[in-house]
Amino acid sequence: MSAARLTIDLDAIAANWTRLARLCRAETGATVKADAYGLGADKVARRLASAGVRSFFVALAEEGAQIRQAVGSGPRIFVFSGHMAGDTQLLRNLDLIPLLNSPEQLARHFDALPRHPFGIQLDSGMNRLGMEPAEWKMVRDHAIAADPLLVMSHLACADESEHLFNAQQLDAFVNMTAGYAGPRSLAATGGILLSPEYHFDLARPGIGLYGGAPFDAARPVVSIALPVIQTREVAVGEPVGYGCSWLAERPSRVATVAAGYADGILRALSNATRLWAGDRPCPVVGRVSMDLITVDVTDLATVPDALDLLGPHQGIDALADDAGTIGYEILTSLGTRYRRRYLGSSI
Ligand SMILES: *Cc1c(COP(=O)(O)O)cnc(C)c1O
Repeated sequence: MSAARLTIDLDAIAANWTRLARLCRAETGATVKADAYGLGADKVARRLASAGVRSFFVALAEEGAQIRQAVGSGPRIFVFSGHMAGDTQLLRNLDLIPLLNSPEQLARHFDALPRHPFGIQLDSGMNRLGMEPAEWKMVRDHAIAADPLLVMSHLACADESEHLFNAQQLDAFVNMTAGYAGPRSLAATGGILLSPEYHFDLARPGIGLYGGAPFDAARPVVSIALPVIQTREVAVGEPVGYGCSWLAERPSRVATVAAGYADGILRALSNATRLWAGDRPCPVVGRVSMDLITVDVTDLATVPDALDLLGPHQGIDALADDAGTIGYEILTSLGTRYRRRYLGSSI
């Protein structure tokens, strides 16, 4: 059995949601797009629903369909991409709520599914998704008369609490929704942590649930153990791996473990991170290849059956720093080859 082991702690995800919900004065939903950040949308959504989540957020209608099947008919499921051509049947049959992001989508929705619930997505400055102030002005009365379930926008810099753009977007959102008395949403994980002004009526955390920055108080959710396939002695001056990018500077023992960039262990981690034998760090030496990683275990008295990539001494953000990326990309890259084990109940 050489598949790498990925352990996902569902109880930690539920505990992280509960902690964020306590910090937030509004209803706290959960963002479970991209297969719950790679961790398994069905199991994660079921666990979160049993912890008390009543509003889920996904990127695509297809993802919403999967969440609906997992959690049943109770919870609300919002779709960030709105009402795209071809989405109508899924939205209707699975009772999904599109967050309409342009006057064209609004027209499509009112035309195809009159009286079907919807929300509105506004652009408060990020210039990525949502109606611009001028577009919103044109359709605002018409849209509000149809009673949206939510009017939302998204912050570009919420992970940097001092960033001046946060207050600017808050202002823009308040102005665009002035006089509208229905439910509003602005905060994801970062926005919850900024201050209560950002909470409005519904928050949509994702990364904090899965143990990532900027939610420093999060419980770690993911651990990964990589089985050692082989160990060998490497003499001074000998290379290891593709491109001979590492040369032994002392008589070394090198372990080869069974995972690689095909498992989302990014190639940028070549010669740039470490695996752990309990609390002993063992540097990755040479290039990460598709299925294999080589590790300097010279300083270990005995080489264990497996070495940890993610665990108590190294979390997703530490690994992301080593790769020059963010915890989100580490999680969503993990791939399908792991032997997955879930801790905690998923009812
Ligand atoms: C991904 C996403 C979220 C969740 O963000 P986190 O930073 O993971 O908490 C919330 N809202 C929108 C619009 C998103 O795209």
